[in-house]
Amino acid sequence: MSPIEKPTTVAHPVENQHFGTWQRQHMRWIVAALIAPLGMTLTAYGVVEFGPQAQINIHTVTQTLATPPLISRDENQQHDRMEVIRSGDTVGRILSRMGIMDQEVQKFIQTDATAKKLYELSPGRILHASSNENGEISQLTYVNGAGEQVRISRTANQLSASSEPVATQKQTFMKSGRINSSFFAATDAADIPDAITQQLIDLFASRVDFHHKLQKGDQFSVVYESEVHLGAIVRPGRILAAQFINNGNVHEAMWFADGSENGNYYSLDGRSLKQGFISNPVKFSRISSGFAMRLHPVLFTWKQHRGVDYAAPTGTDIQVTADGIVTKAGRDGGYGNFVEVKHDGKYSTLYGHMSAIAKGLKAGQAVSQGQVIGAVGQTGRATGPHLHYEFKVNGQQVDPLTVAMPEGKKLSTQQLADFAPLARTMKRQLSVAGQVELAQLD
Ligand SMILES: [Zn+2]
Repeated sequence: MSPIEKPTTVAHPVENQHFGTWQRQHMRWIVAALIAPLGMTLTAYGVVEFGPQAQINIHTVTQTLATPPLISRDENQQHDRMEVIRSGDTVGRILSRMGIMDQEVQKFIQTDATAKKLYELSPGRILHASSNENGEISQLTYVNGAGEQVRISRTANQLSASSEPVATQKQTFMKSGRINSSFFAATDAADIPDAITQQLIDLFASRVDFHHKLQKGDQFSVVYESEVHLGAIVRPGRILAAQFINNGNVHEAMWFADGSENGNYYSLDGRSLKQGFISNPVKFSRISSGFAMRLHPVLFTWKQHRGVDYAAPTGTDIQVTADGIVTKAGRDGGYGNFVEVKHDGKYSTLYGHMSAIAKGLKAGQAVSQGQVIGAVGQTGRATGPHLHYEFKVNGQQVDPLTVAMPEGKKLSTQQLADFAPLARTMKRQLSVAGQVELAQLD
């Protein structure tokens, strides 16, 4: 739960004709307890007053409330305030919401090297300010994305700035959402940090074509870790488990420490998600997602030129669709700037018309699935910026949209023994996360 969501409890009286004996006795006991100091003679009156029909049902609902600035005063007329940072905020704007005018501090932030860190304000984080009896800031603190507390202090009319790492704790979050207008609108509504949203896209990129196949009503649930300081996320961590229901198809993934350096993601039946190919080589982002919705992304069908063309703005990231080794990275009259990658076994892929190849990328280099290998452009024989993508089996181009992709490797029997109980726990957590989301919507 983010710091701006507060659970509230609402007592909701409901008329109920079927009022049981137990409940009646229970109510009488409550009334008796309430009026006990006044003497037992009033008990009967109390019961009649409530009547046998009234039943009180307690519903716990979670509601998002705007956080008002907290204001307190101590004897020295010191005012402490905190404000939640909004999108597009500047220090000046936040201070004015707090009712503080302090040009000197704002100038100091522009010139002092440490104080400049206050420029990196992230929405959802909190700025604390204390001001003295003259309305001047005595202290300003903010915990930035690098996990440092930046502090600006005024002592004897001198401003100074310091920054130090804060102690953080690891916390697990569960979030869910449902797509109504766009995927990013849904992840924003669910208050999922951008870094986690990107991991979610990468996680299901080989199962779901985020550019073309998302549907209204698609649902997702995600369990992730983050480093937290005083309830606010300082550093988003890794996704532990996630579920994506695309057009009724359920896709699930769980992180597992399989003995490799960073662990890997597996389906809940223990199959690696890595062996498959990403279904769309154009990286899905806030920018490219908006573009794909306005224009039809496929300019030509595969049959016409043995590749798939994805229209996207010049400069959009191109990702390699599976782990592999770069076999060619260079320039060609037709393909323009292009990269070719050989994957496990019989597969290879080619990416053409790039505006630029990723810096330093060259033949012989290993690349990992999802790695950005270049940017969309229109070099070579191309009309308009687009990515030309070829998918080859045994050196022959095939239509990647119709060919069956290789299945991921399954964990060994020994690893499965460790994996299975964790997978059951994660399945339960994902189901809880999904139910919370549905309860909030319905
Ligand atoms: Zn093409």
